Amino acid sequence: MAEVLVLVELDPTGSGVRKTTLEALTAARALGEPSAVVVGAPGSAAAAHDALAEYGAAKVYVAESEEIDSYLVAPKAEVLAQLVASVSPAAVVIPSSAEGKEVAGRLAVKTGSGFLTDVTEIAPDGTATQVAFAGATIVHSKVTVGTPIYTVRGNSVTPEPAPAAAAEEPVAVTLSDAAKLTRVVDRVVEQKSSRPELTEASIVVSGGRGVASAENFAIIEALADSLGAAVGASRAAVDSGYYPHTFQVGQTGKTVSPQLYIAVGISGAIQHRAGMQTSKTIVAINKDPEAPIFELADFGVVGDLNTVVPQATEQITARR
Ligand SMILES: Cc1cc2nc3c(=O)[nH]c(=O)nc-3n(C[C@H](O)[C@H](O)[C@H](O)COP(=O)(O)OP(=O)(O)OC[C@H]3O[C@@H](n4cnc5c(N)ncnc54)[C@H](O)[C@@H]3O)c2cc1C
Repeated sequence: MAEVLVLVELDPTGSGVRKTTLEALTAARALGEPSAVVVGAPGSAAAAHDALAEYGAAKVYVAESEEIDSYLVAPKAEVLAQLVASVSPAAVVIPSSAEGKEVAGRLAVKTGSGFLTDVTEIAPDGTATQVAFAGATIVHSKVTVGTPIYTVRGNSVTPEPAPAAAAEEPVAVTLSDAAKLTRVVDRVVEQKSSRPELTEASIVVSGGRGVASAENFAIIEALADSLGAAVGASRAAVDSGYYPHTFQVGQTGKTVSPQLYIAVGISGAIQHRAGMQTSKTIVAINKDPEAPIFELADFGVVGDLNTVVPQATEQITARR
């Protein structure tokens, strides 16, 4: 069976891999047998091993050294390029984070290959699906040059276990001087709330301008917490100072694709839809029955969010 390289996105806390890696492994299985590629500090592969084995990595290429972890993305692209040259994989699949897309671009240049970013599906014949123009167009594309490189959009593939050997194979790391031009001088772990990461959450509750104040976002957070969800916000809510920009969903914010998206006090502008319309089930709460978000919603509640949301939170909490 053809070998497919999958770049592993490690959990920054050192506790294993991110869910995006499991999604990439699952997507890669359409093309052949996944070989995970771990590039990081010593011990990274050991922490990731069980998850990689459970989700179908037949092999794990281990490129570990203190040095490799001291530079930005260039070493990852170099290690992948070395592996592409030595094992001639059928394809390379990378999680579609900002870093993943940069690695993919560099790898494409190094290997003279075509690459497709933010794909939501990969078919066995290599055809990838992408969502374009704020979701108005579905694109099917195929790489025709070199080794196809794909970045897989978060939450578009459901990780499916497929136990495999995950046999480790060390990779000798030889970094060029060019890869060492930008050095990491410090690492600061971002303070995280106990809520799930927005782009990885299976439920997202987002508030818009209708929430009306930063203080009132507490009712959005309470609903999110009753569901174990992440909190998002529209750009109008962010621009009004109700919630931080890192939580903005939409064209100029994050793209989410959860199982359930609850839009509260959000009108449903095209730029907001661009970041959430691939959600599996969409619920809208809005006092205006003509709000465009209802065109998209699977379930709509017309009412004042200040009444509806606390009631919903109470009912959900009572059932847990
Ligand atoms: C280049 C560009 C990029 C953009 N990028 C983004 C982006 O990434 N993300 C994004 O979200 N937007 C983006 N926008 C902005 C977008 O066009 C909209 O302005 C924005 O999404 C509106 O946010 P909103 O729905 O919260 O506010 P509004 O459109 O003002 O809607 C508020 C809604 O709340 C309802 N409401 C009010 N009070 C209540 C209440 N008490 N109970 C229930 N409902 C209530 C109203 O009926 C209304 O439907 C972008 C715009 C441009 C031009």
